[in-house]
Amino acid sequence: MQSDISVRHLNKTYGDGFQALKDINLEIHPGEIFALLGPNGAGKTTLISIICGLVNMTSGNVTAGGFDIVSQYRKARETIGLVPQELNTDSFETVWDAVSFSRGLFGKAPNPGHIEKVLKALSLWDKRNNRIMSLSGGMKRRVMIAKALSHEPQILFLDEPTAGVDVELRRDMWNLVRQLRESGVTIILTTHYIEEAEEMADRIGVIRQGEIILVEEKSSLMSKLGKKELRLQLQ
Ligand code: ATP
Repeated sequence: MQSDISVRHLNKTYGDGFQALKDINLEIHPGEIFALLGPNGAGKTTLISIICGLVNMTSGNVTAGGFDIVSQYRKARETIGLVPQELNTDSFETVWDAVSFSRGLFGKAPNPGHIEKVLKALSLWDKRNNRIMSLSGGMKRRVMIAKALSHEPQILFLDEPTAGVDVELRRDMWNLVRQLRESGVTIILTTHYIEEAEEMADRIGVIRQGEIILVEEKSSLMSKLGKKELRLQLQ
């Protein structure tokens, strides 16, 4: 089975000489929910940004949907939807326009039927003519996910989807992610929260100081390490 994402011997050194990623190797399987768990500054956003082609790697290879992220950037990028950590939501645009425009950015022909399906799945249909800036925080997050799904990607990245959100919204997000997976999308999310990884993921990778220190099925990770040990790994 071909991986949806394949990362081989990936290294990243920023311009100031800081090595943010060290020999990362990672395979993400079609249809799984993979949680990348790590403390502040571990390298989660750097890794996601490189896989999505937003930041240059220093060395290594990355493919998305079987396409090389450097030499086949457009094709690789088309397979990916990205919901970044920083949400840019102060928009005068309506939900419908913003989501349709995102699709256009990928050079895809308009497909109102797909946009309708995405908005309905995210409970945004009734808000489609509302300006994004007028929506609640939870609805804005949903709009960001709708934008990321607008071009029908097979892989969805969620960078810390529940950082700073209240308990209720966190539960909503978890349910939403499960629903998306049921629709066949492969999901990779980053988080600081062990509970979130435990609740959501099929497999968990732990990253610390730029190194992936383990990747395990959730059940075997929890039985091998237990929460206490895992918490120590995340400090
Ligand atoms: P957080 O959970 O706080 O978002 P993270 O795991 O996503 O952290 P990154 O944002 O990838 O971590 O940062 C990894 C390391 O790389 C940190 O030490 C950070 O300071 C450093 N770093 C990130 N971007 C740059 C940059 N442009 N130049 C230099 N160093 C950087």
